[in-house]
Amino acid sequence: MPTWGAEWMATLVDERTKRTRQTMVSPTVDGLDVRTEEGEWRQWPWARVTQGVGSKSEVELRCDGESVRVADWTMIDSIHRIAPVTRGRLKSQAGKKLGQIAGLYVGAAVVGVAAAWLAIGWAGAWAVAAAPRSWEKKIGEAAIGQFAPSEKVCGDRDVYLAMQTVAGRLRATVPAEAGAFDIRVVDDPLVNAVTLPGGYIVVYRGLLRASDTPEELAGVLAHEMQHAVQRHSMKALGREAALWSVVAWVTGGADVGVGQLAGELAGLKMQREDELAADAGALEMLLAAQIDAGGFESFFEKLGRQEGSVPWLGQAVSTHPESQERLRRIRRWREARDYAAKPLLDGERWREVRVRCR
Ligand SMILES: [Zn+2]
Repeated sequence: MPTWGAEWMATLVDERTKRTRQTMVSPTVDGLDVRTEEGEWRQWPWARVTQGVGSKSEVELRCDGESVRVADWTMIDSIHRIAPVTRGRLKSQAGKKLGQIAGLYVGAAVVGVAAAWLAIGWAGAWAVAAAPRSWEKKIGEAAIGQFAPSEKVCGDRDVYLAMQTVAGRLRATVPAEAGAFDIRVVDDPLVNAVTLPGGYIVVYRGLLRASDTPEELAGVLAHEMQHAVQRHSMKALGREAALWSVVAWVTGGADVGVGQLAGELAGLKMQREDELAADAGALEMLLAAQIDAGGFESFFEKLGRQEGSVPWLGQAVSTHPESQERLRRIRRWREARDYAAKPLLDGERWREVRVRCR
């Protein structure tokens, strides 16, 4: 995430009346800028900002009888970078959990691997933060062949180059350790993309074809990349108590077949909060990459209109009531921003390339 111009969607709560409003918050050197959708603006000086308990998925900051909740813990890291004075006072999730995670590992070393599995079962999603990225990579690596068999991977060079251009601009906006992506285009008419642990992203050709502009594809891709950056499939594995069996397999202690592993991953359900966090992260990513976020918005609108005729993703997007809220959030964010977007690819060229795979 960039250290400049970072902004998050937030819920502003008046602690006295409990009234809630949608706002945008953005950290500056001096304080947190809070802007409501009615256009009110105020700055909370860091000296008066305190951190509330929040939740696993939401950061809570308070000041002068108000609080904001943001569904993205990476905001704290950005605040630390922009305003170093807050370091030590505002805790990132990693900082808050470090003690517990260290305990988990020491426990594991002492009483053995079986206990570690149990601990992972108990600690649920927290254990995910403790699971090394190398495990995640191994899980994705093992399953990718099931989702993108080599004979079905689209080998068109122009498609590859176009994907490199779009993904490259987005990838450059996240830290290297979180941003190792392996993106494969599969010859399948599904309008969908799937993110596996370890940064493996499968884009079905139906998604390319449904993207009228490269910016539309970039929006969906940024959302998927954020699922990877924020490790949502690992969280989902933890939630569904499937993590232990996958970890058992990764650490060599159990015989879980690749098909079974892929089945687990394919069946994972993202939580609404994860979808919102991926949307929010995607918008920040698009901003940092100077890619017009209007494509993200128009793709959502299009899927809503084509209810029933678009397989899987369209259905998922249009039938859930929260998809309307997601669209509204994206639109509000986009309208609140004014940034110079640089074109991704020539439009004519894109229209030719997007139908190449078949
Ligand atoms: Zn998603």
